[in-house]
Amino acid sequence: MKRRNFIKSTGMGAFGSWASLAAGSQMGSSKKGPSRIIDAHTHLGVVPSHRRGLEDKIRTKEDLIAFRTRYPELYARRLHEKFEENSDDLIAAMDQHGIDKALTQLTAGNIPNDMVAEAVKKYPDRLYGQLRVGQNQVNTAYAESPAAVRARAAEEVKRGVEELGLVAVGTIAARGFTREIHPEKIADDLAPIMDAVNRYKIAIEFPTAWTQFRGGLHYGNPAWVDEVAGRYPQVPIILSKMGRSVTFYFEMAMMVAMRNSNVHFDIVGTSSDHLRQAAETIGADRILFGTDWSGTWRWVVDPEDVHTRHKRIVEEAGLSDEQKEWVYWRTANKVFKLNLS
Ligand SMILES: [Zn+2]
Repeated sequence: MKRRNFIKSTGMGAFGSWASLAAGSQMGSSKKGPSRIIDAHTHLGVVPSHRRGLEDKIRTKEDLIAFRTRYPELYARRLHEKFEENSDDLIAAMDQHGIDKALTQLTAGNIPNDMVAEAVKKYPDRLYGQLRVGQNQVNTAYAESPAAVRARAAEEVKRGVEELGLVAVGTIAARGFTREIHPEKIADDLAPIMDAVNRYKIAIEFPTAWTQFRGGLHYGNPAWVDEVAGRYPQVPIILSKMGRSVTFYFEMAMMVAMRNSNVHFDIVGTSSDHLRQAAETIGADRILFGTDWSGTWRWVVDPEDVHTRHKRIVEEAGLSDEQKEWVYWRTANKVFKLNLS
């Protein structure tokens, strides 16, 4: 297995690094904390019916996954009510959990990217904005012909970067752009948005595994991203959720990342074991901390909230302090060109 530079620089061979892994997992949080935490994955926008009063309906992750089918009428309010800008809720949660800064993007829904720009303007020292294209479809149903989304992609990316000051493209549901299943045909259909991000060399995210929304599961297997990553080697690609703890998807994500050095992971929903394997194989300098905080995920508190959960995943992965620094903020600093020192 290829050793990473940071392991070499600390003078540890294979045996040394394993010994430190074991020590790390035993010592857990007694080791020193990170110098900074950047949450690379959060969502803005919530409808009034979901902003208040869901504490008895969503307590666990399972409740959240089942919410759409268990309370179809209540869920459907996100299709009809007007989304509110809820960065105050996000900042309060960040303050409570020691998160210094966050990248943020719209939740799925019919919301303009302007809402993200508004939030960043309100909290310029805390938030960076990512833009989304085609996210309205994720919430409702995918269009039979994705041609309209493709046609609008370049202009939306240009407006997001040049007018709204957004620093990257957030989660792109491939199904919003294509109905193809062959990797080369998918890559052809993604060309409008990939060409646009390639002009600015900004990051773009593709989700892996499952979502709480209907449809599109086929694209959760990231094997097709290999073709896109190969065509655009200068574009940082984030395989969001790195398989989401599902070993089959994780292994596919690892395969794509090992073959393409522009591919990164965020840790949303992963396990400490998968994080450890990924850090060992592709390097902690290609892995980003993220929580997926959103107006609905914030209700999950049992057995723990999304911040506590994702910090625990990192702490229990047995990473060195230096690896943790990369995961907690340095990789985000590099990928999003934030220029923090
Ligand atoms: Zn997300």
